[in-house]
Amino acid sequence: MRVAGTRARSAVPSATDPLNPIWHPSPNFGERRDGLTPSLIVIHYTAMDSAQAALDRLCDPKAEVSAHYLIGNDGTLWQMVREEERAWHAGAGEWHGQTDINSRSIGIELDNTGKHPFPEPQMHRLEQLLRQIMHRWAILPNGVIGHSDMAPGRKFDPGPRFDWLRLERNLLAAPRGYAAGPLTASKGQFRSLARAAGFSADVDDDTLLHAVRLRYRPWGRGPLQQADLAPLIPHS
Ligand SMILES: [Zn+2]
Repeated sequence: MRVAGTRARSAVPSATDPLNPIWHPSPNFGERRDGLTPSLIVIHYTAMDSAQAALDRLCDPKAEVSAHYLIGNDGTLWQMVREEERAWHAGAGEWHGQTDINSRSIGIELDNTGKHPFPEPQMHRLEQLLRQIMHRWAILPNGVIGHSDMAPGRKFDPGPRFDWLRLERNLLAAPRGYAAGPLTASKGQFRSLARAAGFSADVDDDTLLHAVRLRYRPWGRGPLQQADLAPLIPHS
């Protein structure tokens, strides 16, 4: 029984409740080109030993890198670049045939060395932040990608320990396919399915396979198999 006068709280946090990030401005940003607005969110890990070290680097004019947000391993949220501006986090690469990802995206750095799992408070904050950004810019779950998705072979973050399935279950990333797929997987079929899913960067077969596995089955080893195609086959 509820006590009179208290409000029932929704289990799902509102997409408009402010998260009040700590403003820690970076000089490393510019204007989005060609009037572009964010249609993608790119998730990274910092590959550094502490959030402070990452903040220092992401705000160092000599480093010429930045991101819109950094989430500490305890869930602390910093903002370095306004969402309207173009931060410098994505670099060379492409997704669904589109380049200049910096002009099309919002970059979120997760404080993580790349060698250990992402703690619950950090994942929880990431989910809150994703909901808000997706709401503000009308970004769909398929617009949430990893750095390694758009820069295969060049970048490996957010890495094999990032819980993509959790984001998928919460409608914060595109759901993977579960169809069995063709029994004998050809490299050509794999390449065209990967391209249709967004992996359009021009890389060799092994690099592409590694990038797709990082996203869907990072435990995968050896030559191409049926299980590598399944996540790429869209739900009918
Ligand atoms: Zn990155």
